[in-house]
Amino acid sequence: MTSEQLNIILFGPPGAGKGTQAKKLIDQYGLVHLATGDLLRNEIANETELGSKAKAIMDEGKLVPDELVIGIIRKKLEENADAPGFIFDGFPRTKEQAEALDELTKEKGSPISMLIALEVHEEELIRRLLQRGQDSGRSDDQDEETIRKRIQEYEEKTAPLKEYYQNQDKYRSIDGIGTIENIFDRITKAIEAGRTV
Ligand code: AMP
Repeated sequence: MTSEQLNIILFGPPGAGKGTQAKKLIDQYGLVHLATGDLLRNEIANETELGSKAKAIMDEGKLVPDELVIGIIRKKLEENADAPGFIFDGFPRTKEQAEALDELTKEKGSPISMLIALEVHEEELIRRLLQRGQDSGRSDDQDEETIRKRIQEYEEKTAPLKEYYQNQDKYRSIDGIGTIENIFDRITKAIEAGRTV
């Protein structure tokens, strides 16, 4: 990694639109997408030991252990050392993960540039996730109780990270309601403003 890298955390509850916006940011800036949820689902599909540890926890809507996702991220950062930057999507989700990410990126001389928080209210999240469950077949999107558990996990363990990044002056709040293009426009404006400071 180099100090020129653009390292963005996409932050927000399940269903906020992180994956959708990540794809557009990758096209725009050529970043490498590191989505821990996708990486864990790959492990499950490949029937690895790690996947088998994660599956039951994910099906309950709970967070998998920190050391497990931190290990995945460390490996991916090493594999993509020359990338122009990274989009962290669904990671970090706890203070321990945020601290580990700071260490990993600073070690390599390329700290987190900013965190983009997509703000969407709960009823809209549940509506979007149930729709995604129908479209994609993703098991944890099909049951309203699991969805509510995931949102609760977010509120308890992940939302407090807001303060962690505000203290570093890296937190950027974005209205996550609107068309995909409108929201993308808000995000790129925040990135460009951050870059020129
Ligand atoms: P996602 O695709 O980001 O909604 O993640 C799906 C599920 O994977 C979550 O409900 C968690 O069980 C697990 N997961 C994904 N990322 C993390 C993470 N950073 N920390 C802990 N668990 C995670």
